[in-house]
Amino acid sequence: MSRSIDQFTTPFSPAEAFCIGGIISACDVHTNETGTSIWVLPVIHNPQKATPESLSAHKKHLENVFAEIPTITVSKGESDFTKYMQPNKDGFVFLFESKDLNTPENLIQRFANNILCSEESIRCAFISGVFDGRSSWDKSGKMITLDSRNELCAETICSILDSLSIRYNYNPPRERASGNPRKAQLRIYSTDVPDFIKRIGLISPTRIKDIENASICNFSEEFDTVLDGLTRIMGLRISTQTREYKKITREKFSIEAELDRKLLDDVINEIDSDIPEKPTYKGTPKKKKAPTKVSSSETYPRDTNTALNALKIAEYKCEIDSEHPTFIRKKNNLPYTEPHHLIPMAYSDNFDFSLDVEENIVSLCSNCHNQIHYGKDVEVILQPLYEKRKDLLARAGIYIAYAELLEMYK
Ligand SMILES: [Zn+2]
Ligand SMILES: [Zn+2]
Repeated sequence: MSRSIDQFTTPFSPAEAFCIGGIISACDVHTNETGTSIWVLPVIHNPQKATPESLSAHKKHLENVFAEIPTITVSKGESDFTKYMQPNKDGFVFLFESKDLNTPENLIQRFANNILCSEESIRCAFISGVFDGRSSWDKSGKMITLDSRNELCAETICSILDSLSIRYNYNPPRERASGNPRKAQLRIYSTDVPDFIKRIGLISPTRIKDIENASICNFSEEFDTVLDGLTRIMGLRISTQTREYKKITREKFSIEAELDRKLLDDVINEIDSDIPEKPTYKGTPKKKKAPTKVSSSETYPRDTNTALNALKIAEYKCEIDSEHPTFIRKKNNLPYTEPHHLIPMAYSDNFDFSLDVEENIVSLCSNCHNQIHYGKDVEVILQPLYEKRKDLLARAGIYIAYAELLEMYK
């Protein structure tokens, strides 16, 4: 059954939610000779930024998405193109006719609350529509940006992002010395991009490539069947562009091992009075502390409380198997497990953010801890820990493929 945007009612289909997201984000309405309003859903790229192949793939996907919705498509080169798009831009436009909706206020009044009350998958489809065609990829800031065309529309988009607990930043409009005022802008910062792209996904092949190439998240793609061509990036993949890590020298290795041993001592002796009742993963990147010089080697300090937090989050159980036997600590009546930095602190220089975070510290029984350091079959321990932690690590701004981690233990 084909429905025009005037007939969209709850429950919205994902395609309808995507369409509403696209037109709310563009907030661009024209009136034709007969007085019918035409809402625009554009797919815009700067010249030469998108390949003809990716543009045509994108268009094909959207045509499938909008199969049930009456639309007109205008591509670059067609006479009407400049009516809806700046002539220097690449891309195409979908047009949706409406008899009732002729102002942003109408549009918002009609849809905003209904989208907000829709189930999560529909709100996600709405946000995909918001960002798919009009957002940009900021290469230097490694963030997704979306200029807002209308404050009312931006407010709606923000409230739906809030309802999904998607992190973003809203930069209000401001004057610039150049006299050319900065438009209000929504930003998904680099550390939140992996979560965004995993939960929301985009159809735009160009944008997906941009994000992949930024290698802030070496994630594998997963196609979703909710919307044609919707790509979500799930979990870390075995990267094809494995980074080269500097081999740790023997001297550095023994200094680092000594510091790990000292941390273990500190943890054992600490009566964890300073540890919050229910510590949690912070879920945000932590700045690295300044390295200190030990002999000729630079090392990064380990924080005792962070390690204690990590043990407490794990409820002092071995994270390989909570049934692994342990004993009660002499000092504080707690089960004895040992903290271990999954990505060794020695590799800190290769990462933008601190490795000394709860997300990177696992709780292991003495046997597993020794096995991960000295055992032959390190993979038996390493692989399950990696699977358990990879998403948490990403939230802490730490991106690593399994192959890279394994290399560090060889
Ligand atoms: Zn260890
Ligand atoms: Zn164990």
